[in-house]
Amino acid sequence: MSQSFDLVVIGTGDGGSGAAHRCRRAGWRVAIVDELPYGGTCALRGCDPKKVLVGAADLADWSRRMQERGARGRTEIDWAELMRFKRSFTDPVPQARLAAFQKAGIATYQGQARFVDPERMVMGDETLESRYFLIAAGARPRPLGIKGEAHLTTSTDFLELDRLPERIAFVGGGYISFEFAHVAQRAGARTTILGRGTPLRHFDQDLVQRLVRHTRELGVDTRLNATVTAIEQRGAGYLVRSEGDGRSETVEADLVVHGAGRVPHTEGLCLGEGSVATDAAGGVLVNQFLQSPSNPRVYAAGDAAAAPGSLPLTPVAAYQSVVVSSNLLNGNSRTADYRGIPTVTFTVPPLAGVGLTEAEARRQQLAFRVKSEETSGWYSNRRVNQSAAMFKTLVDNESDRILGAHLLGEHAEEVINLFALAIRQDLTATDLKHQLYSYPTSASDLPYML
Ligand SMILES: Cc1cc2nc3c(=O)[nH]c(=O)nc-3n(C[C@H](O)[C@H](O)[C@H](O)COP(=O)(O)OP(=O)(O)OC[C@H]3O[C@@H](n4cnc5c(N)ncnc54)[C@H](O)[C@@H]3O)c2cc1C
Repeated sequence: MSQSFDLVVIGTGDGGSGAAHRCRRAGWRVAIVDELPYGGTCALRGCDPKKVLVGAADLADWSRRMQERGARGRTEIDWAELMRFKRSFTDPVPQARLAAFQKAGIATYQGQARFVDPERMVMGDETLESRYFLIAAGARPRPLGIKGEAHLTTSTDFLELDRLPERIAFVGGGYISFEFAHVAQRAGARTTILGRGTPLRHFDQDLVQRLVRHTRELGVDTRLNATVTAIEQRGAGYLVRSEGDGRSETVEADLVVHGAGRVPHTEGLCLGEGSVATDAAGGVLVNQFLQSPSNPRVYAAGDAAAAPGSLPLTPVAAYQSVVVSSNLLNGNSRTADYRGIPTVTFTVPPLAGVGLTEAEARRQQLAFRVKSEETSGWYSNRRVNQSAAMFKTLVDNESDRILGAHLLGEHAEEVINLFALAIRQDLTATDLKHQLYSYPTSASDLPYML
């Protein structure tokens, strides 16, 4: 059967949904397709379920830190119960999203869509013809090309574990490994991170080093010069082989989790048939209007788009979806502004950053002043006995604008938004310093960081 639309959206996550609703509100005939339950990664398999688990890890850690400081009795994590609580967030999402699309009059399809030519996609025996397509197909774990790769568990599976294994190895030194290791270790597992090269490479490395030290103090076996070469089955568990510093090492684990990066999930879309050009990683190449230069009917948003300056994060996907809908409805006129995107590793405590790292600012030969300090002795961290705490700010000498801000410690994930606001709204460091902040809060530390 063949159907005709003004816009067909691939993906029901944050990159796809906003544009689908906006275009439909403007009277367009819109269809949306997903091969998985509706809702996308963030709501079902990423940010939201993850932070429910991080909340419990935070509580367990806080309770440990407050022993002999007024608290008695340790909080322990009941994994099965925590999972049930997590599912109370994720389980209702697909039905609620489907109902919202249907109520809006958006045609909904379930299945894998692929291009057959530049104007048509098929899905099973349905053909969807459209004036425009939006590819918001998200990302998938990066293929590693190592022996025994099939034994790897994905982040999606980790977030569905009914029982927490005793020994867990995380392959890769990115945010997924650090976040999950911090949760699993607090929940009673023995964890190992096997990373190579620079860990958490989007973050300022001085703060990363402090977090790595803290992660090791928690008991997470953190190996940062370990290139994983093979995963072998050993009875009910696995042996993970790695190389580094001229040495071969092994780790035994009951579960091995992929935390080694994600790439655009475009391989099933037959983009070649649709004349949609991609970069080497499979990201859809786009111009400044998020439109494919090789097929102007096609736009891309979120993790599937290869947009220079962008980051694979939920708020960026949602923002790009708005930019795309604006360009579709009003003609190409809106470009995305990627300045000041805050990003957080939800460890306990969290690590947050926005703008340039010190290394990036030096590479650009900017003239700037740096302020950096350990802040475990500052009231907001000492009150909760948080020993891993630090900040670094970079301020342009001439304009007094914030070039970058990096925070580790209590409420870093919230305070970073104030620095992001300053960067995006062109506020100066002096503006931020002269702001009145509610007290005592972590935000009220901000003037002392500048
Ligand atoms: C474990 C984890 C934790 C994360 N934590 C955070 C966080 O704390 N903060 C943050 O900002 N970001 C986080 N992210 C990243 C964030 O989830 C993504 O950036 C965001 O969800 C991307 O949205 P999207 O719309 O581009 O893609 P998605 O939400 O992934 O949606 C894409 C959809 O397209 C569908 N699809 C793909 N190909 C086809 C096809 N051919 N046919 C039909 N359907 C198809 C997929 O099934 C999927 O549902 C996390 C990611 C993971 C994996």
